[in-house]
Amino acid sequence: MKIVILGGGESGVGAALLAKSKGYDVFLSDKSSLSEKYKEILEKNGIPYEEGQHNEEFILDADEIIKSPGIPDKVELIKKLKSLRKPIISEIEFASRYTKAKIIAITGSNGKTTTTLLTYHILKSAGYNVGLAGNVGDSFAKQVIEDTFDYFVLELSSFQLDNCYDFKADVAILLNITPDHLDRYDYNFQNYVNSKFRIVQNMSANDKFIYFQESEALAKELSEKVYSLKHLPVSIQHEVAQGAFVQNGILEARYENQVFQIAVDVLPIKGTHNSINASCAILASKSVGLSDTQITEGLLSFQSVEHRLEPAGVVDGVSFVNDSKATNVDSVFYALGSFNEPIVLIMGGVDKGNDYSQIDELVANKVKALVCMGTDNHKLYDYFGKKVPLIFDTKSMAEAVKTAANLAVEGDVVLLSPACASFDLFKNYEDRGRQFKQAVQELSQLK
Ligand code: ADP
Repeated sequence: MKIVILGGGESGVGAALLAKSKGYDVFLSDKSSLSEKYKEILEKNGIPYEEGQHNEEFILDADEIIKSPGIPDKVELIKKLKSLRKPIISEIEFASRYTKAKIIAITGSNGKTTTTLLTYHILKSAGYNVGLAGNVGDSFAKQVIEDTFDYFVLELSSFQLDNCYDFKADVAILLNITPDHLDRYDYNFQNYVNSKFRIVQNMSANDKFIYFQESEALAKELSEKVYSLKHLPVSIQHEVAQGAFVQNGILEARYENQVFQIAVDVLPIKGTHNSINASCAILASKSVGLSDTQITEGLLSFQSVEHRLEPAGVVDGVSFVNDSKATNVDSVFYALGSFNEPIVLIMGGVDKGNDYSQIDELVANKVKALVCMGTDNHKLYDYFGKKVPLIFDTKSMAEAVKTAANLAVEGDVVLLSPACASFDLFKNYEDRGRQFKQAVQELSQLK
């Protein structure tokens, strides 16, 4: 049996190693160049590969194809493979064939990484033998070669779910669904919703489905289709009989006949969105049998995640917050909602077709100045020009931070929460976040 792997990043190379260890005839192909690190691994393990091209004849002859989530279905090669009815699967689907571990799978438009890392942290600090994979850390496939874990916490994107068929989670978390990546879904939001709901496919009535019930698109889907699973909704508006909710500053989780409570104020990750994320992590932890004490300890010892509402320093009484990972409007909505202080907001970059109306009210109530940062800020100017008291045009991080610092006074927050992708001025969102922190540090050294 011949397996071809398309894409030689962390997941592709992991899949190649797993396929090789299971005795398959493996070939890896990447249209771009491979990193030295991965080439070395492939060579050391005797796995043939090509880079900078796709040998079509060879690829079309494969029995099964493992496709990187980064490759869209509309590229010619994938169309050809589909017309030949070749099975195309994701690394997650492939790896799931080889593990006995129980799987907690996490998806959503926003909050995946935070919830995944928090859930993993709670289980790990409780002494569970748990692995972390999916969009974070080492590839799932590589980790099931030895298959030593009892549990896996997996962060899954819609692209990974798209090529899952027999994959089955034991506990699924669906955080929210808001428009994103529509270019990959024929600009049809329902296709994206369907993709997210693949997280529950193959699950049975006793498997746990944890979700945020006030996410509009998610609620609509649940009102239209029956999913026969154990539902554990999370709410920030209503009490729920089973699931979790936040009321008067207390997060309460009800699971079977147990009740777990914690004050939202003591959680190290702040904001309403993080209470939702924490609720999901708590319910997942309950589902796999953790005690209240174990859950509380894990929650309290969790460190906030880099580039997600990350405190970046205080200069002259102004708090700087790095939320560089906010690459869409929904995450900015939650970021703004996390502060009571006046905000100088740094926003901008590559707009993915943003509709800013969702944050109108928050901007009107909280934002004292908007600093636009990007090579082309005209859309932000057109939209917010008359809505904010002050607006500025900047073209680099240093300029943006300096401008924001001049506008802020003691007690204000300078928030980098861009709502846009970063690649006009930066390598990626991490680079953007690091440059922000660097600029804040330089500012404090000037004092
Ligand atoms: P993902 O992995 O889905 O991109 P992250 O945890 O990396 O999610 O967070 C991405 C951005 O979304 C951050 O700006 C973060 O503050 C914000 N965010 C986190 N959780 C949520 C949530 N539940 N709802 C909306 N926004 C969120």
